[in-house]
Amino acid sequence: MKWRKEILENIFKYLPGFIYPERCPICGNVLRAGTEDSTCNGCKEKAEIVKSPFCMKCGKPLADNVEFCTDCMKKETSFICGRAVFVYNKYMKKSIQEFKYHGRVEYAKFYARKMFEVYGDWIKSISPDALIPVPVHINRRLKRGYNQSGIIADILGKLTGIQVIHDLLVRNKDTVPQKELSDSERRDNLHNAFDIVRESWELYQDVKCVIIIDDIYTTGSTIEECSYTLGYVHIENIYFLCTCIGKGY
Ligand SMILES: [Zn+2]
Ligand SMILES: [Zn+2]
Repeated sequence: MKWRKEILENIFKYLPGFIYPERCPICGNVLRAGTEDSTCNGCKEKAEIVKSPFCMKCGKPLADNVEFCTDCMKKETSFICGRAVFVYNKYMKKSIQEFKYHGRVEYAKFYARKMFEVYGDWIKSISPDALIPVPVHINRRLKRGYNQSGIIADILGKLTGIQVIHDLLVRNKDTVPQKELSDSERRDNLHNAFDIVRESWELYQDVKCVIIIDDIYTTGSTIEECSYTLGYVHIENIYFLCTCIGKGY
């Protein structure tokens, strides 16, 4: 029962983030009442939304009006395509770090709201059976107290009315953080990192089309591994939506 106690302790550790005055997800200053789920006025431009031209496959902002980024031109993927809302600039990097490692769980509300504002119509056009957050390994969840993508997905699920599935895909390998690795190391690191929860499969046999939810898209190896694994249970129409993405130039 040790892990239950740890989960409870973590919940209480991060609960204040949901109760105390809301902060600007970019600079961390307390927001004026009534401006929740947003940035402060000074930070509006810093949370830079991805604008076209962007890669039609991965959604990465591009310098020229071409269809695909160089990465996507070379790669075959198990997913159809995906989008991301914010450019992963230094401000968003800081924001995501605070969100992931320093208990600013409430920033998820801002991320999910923007994902809905910008890509609500896109989600509707896909009309997925479910949203599936990229899972974290149980060890990391116990340490952090939450799965950051799961929180974003839950809020997005409420906004869109689409079910969120947390118990189909698991991360069975406690991988090294991807940011510490090169491109090819990332792929090895993630190889067979995910698996299907066999007991859940029957529950979700009608699920054929999903959108995978994650906080950051870098090389796409995480989304690819998840998509590939979901293919085992015949989920074939797979898209993704991420909070942030790097530039393709
Ligand atoms: Zn601010
Ligand atoms: Zn691309």
